[in-house]
Amino acid sequence: MALTGLEIFKLLPKTNCKKCGMPTCLAFAMQLAQKRAKLEDCPHVSQESKQKLAAAAAPPMRKVVFGRKDAQLTVGQETVMFRHEEKFYNPTVLAVTISDKLSGNDLNSRIKAVNSLQFERVGTKIGVRAIAVTNDSGSPEPFAQVCAQAAKQACPEPGRGGWSRERRANNSPADSSTSLGTSLALILVTESPQAAAAALKQIKDTAGTPLLAAATAKNAEEMAKVAKENGCPLVAKAESIEALADLSEKIKAAGVEDIVLNLSTGSLKEKLYNMTRMRVLSLKKVFRPLGYPTVSFVLGGSPEQQMAEACSLICKYSSIVVVETVEPYAILPMLTCVMNIFTDPQKPVQVEPKVYAIGEPGENSPLMFTTNFSLTYYTVESDVEASRVPSYILVVDTEGTSVLTAYSGDKLNEKTVADAMAKGNVASLVKHRKLIIPGYVAVMSGKLEEATNWEVMVGPRESAMLPKYLKEVWK
Ligand code: SF4
Repeated sequence: MALTGLEIFKLLPKTNCKKCGMPTCLAFAMQLAQKRAKLEDCPHVSQESKQKLAAAAAPPMRKVVFGRKDAQLTVGQETVMFRHEEKFYNPTVLAVTISDKLSGNDLNSRIKAVNSLQFERVGTKIGVRAIAVTNDSGSPEPFAQVCAQAAKQACPEPGRGGWSRERRANNSPADSSTSLGTSLALILVTESPQAAAAALKQIKDTAGTPLLAAATAKNAEEMAKVAKENGCPLVAKAESIEALADLSEKIKAAGVEDIVLNLSTGSLKEKLYNMTRMRVLSLKKVFRPLGYPTVSFVLGGSPEQQMAEACSLICKYSSIVVVETVEPYAILPMLTCVMNIFTDPQKPVQVEPKVYAIGEPGENSPLMFTTNFSLTYYTVESDVEASRVPSYILVVDTEGTSVLTAYSGDKLNEKTVADAMAKGNVASLVKHRKLIIPGYVAVMSGKLEEATNWEVMVGPRESAMLPKYLKEVWK
């Protein structure tokens, strides 16, 4: 558990020598508690105090990194139970299975299907991030071969909806260290140390650091040995929280520090209950044997069932979710769920305030404005695209708030719009001097005309009506 400033102060020399740059030891302790100073800045702190402070400073949930060098995935290191308390940090990794019973064209098609599960949503690229090769054959050879092929071919394709546009949204989970790279990570799903060792030998030059799943009470020693030799993080799999805590301690004692926890049994209701208990024990009680990220397997059932179960487990509290389905209509809601849960609730998702050209607009094309709240912008953008009328959209900086919220908070007024028009140099883009404004802020048209000397046209209240408006009113 994190120490308070006073608790830290008790461990300091209390000489007030100022060598740390602070006037007193107490001031330094307060800075340390807020993580604004480093312990090394005090040259006089004793070895014993250093150890106590370091142990207290360790995060309650360990960070685990796996995947390829060009697309490393980070899971764990969460600090809160609920996102509104602060935010969730490392987005859930979504993985899809590939059975080692597949071969030839079937295997190629399955890898291709997984590679294609990439999308663009509100300007952000999202997608499946890992392939979980399952050792259904029970033999090391086919497992090693399929792992080798997956390692070679696992490469996401450009997203549905295209990746041609630059990602413009800020504060999206993909902005973190887990941003999508050029290849998918591998999860080796086998309880056979021989199969794990054979696969790791085959892929050691191509797959970076795969995640090895899993060690159980029966194979823990051998699996830990394989994981340690190959520098892989290891999944600990058990049927209860108590067994999981024992197993993680055993694996740690065998020399593997990077552990991922898997509760292997129970209904969805039981899993959610137990995952919540584990989160409480790791974050609130700082119970170190459970202070690791988690993985859930959602295998079997229709794509719709997998989608519902996976979304529940993403919310509470799976760091990695492995599913079987490759149906885009089931995968996209899971990714959307991750995206929503892992955005910072204190920071609205924003687009860059500037002028966006939709199609190939010219000097007679319509010009309209909206705000830089991502959802507002992309709704307007897609409605303008649907109209097939090439247009300019001027995005006004309203600190990521929607039109009505910005207007009521005085972040959207004649001055902010006039400033945005000047900054975007819209006068050089169109010659008609007409500006279409959202119907919800029709009330600002008079003042806006005075501030800009442009003719203000009041557009529809709902952007869904823009195609009709652009075809019938704008001519
Ligand atoms: S350097 Fe250490 S002993 Fe000196 S004032 Fe800072 S905290 Fe206190």
